[in-house]
Amino acid sequence: MVYLNGEFLAKNQASISVMDRGFLFGDGVYEVIPVYKGSIFRLQEHLQRLQNSLDAIGIKNPHTNQQWQDIFSQLLTHDLAPNQSLYLQITRGADTQRKHSFESLTATVFVELNPLTPKSKHELNQGFSAITQADFRWQRCDIKATSLLANIMYSQQAKQNQVEEVILHRDQSITEGATSNVFIVKNNTLFTHPTGPNILSGITRDLVLESAIACQLPIQETAPTLDELLSADEVWISSSTREVMPITQVDSQPINQGKIGTHWSNVYDYYQSLKNA
Ligand code: PLP
Repeated sequence: MVYLNGEFLAKNQASISVMDRGFLFGDGVYEVIPVYKGSIFRLQEHLQRLQNSLDAIGIKNPHTNQQWQDIFSQLLTHDLAPNQSLYLQITRGADTQRKHSFESLTATVFVELNPLTPKSKHELNQGFSAITQADFRWQRCDIKATSLLANIMYSQQAKQNQVEEVILHRDQSITEGATSNVFIVKNNTLFTHPTGPNILSGITRDLVLESAIACQLPIQETAPTLDELLSADEVWISSSTREVMPITQVDSQPINQGKIGTHWSNVYDYYQSLKNA
């Protein structure tokens, strides 16, 4: 069951126009929202970020927060899997002719549920690998846009290299991952790139910072350099579907001799407590 433009339909019954600007240009924005035991995690924060993305590209929000919540609740009553993620996408809609500039159109709204199976702490304890690449994306990475060509190229590179993530750097500063935010711990302080146009302001990033403060780990929103990443005591990535994951190898070099850090373990535990609160 999916939601498309006011209707709840079987997925194979849902279709859109070939003139939809989402199809032609990737002219749209999206959100991914985790649902734990039927409860939507940090809904208001996700809806606020959705509003920011819509405002940035000049699409009027087609629904009030209450209407969004009603759509999500209806979908959730049809799917009883314990943990899921809501995928919602809004495109500018379909025009009669393909042209880059746009008129006022009726937005296309699509929502679906996907299974969510966060890794257990036992699985995470093995650590994960990443590679680094120059960040060649545009300078509005704060917009959660569906046009994700660069991120797709990086993610495919991660797959080909059999690593969990590609960590990106711009002028030697670590921005974020292809599909995550990036943190390092150095000398008992947590560092991450500040919010702004060069990164997506991750909802999980905020939760990780909140968890670090609760765990008495000082935080500094300053981008680590590439050298600092490679010589970090701990490296983590975060996203709504991956939560907070330890990276123990970057560009084939071990981080902290390839061992999981204690700060990650504490922050992971606190994060879990927020989910279950
Ligand atoms: N940065 C990028 C480029 C992403 O694609 C994502 C998530 O998909 C994130 C950061 C993490 O955002 P969130 O924690 O809100 O899922």
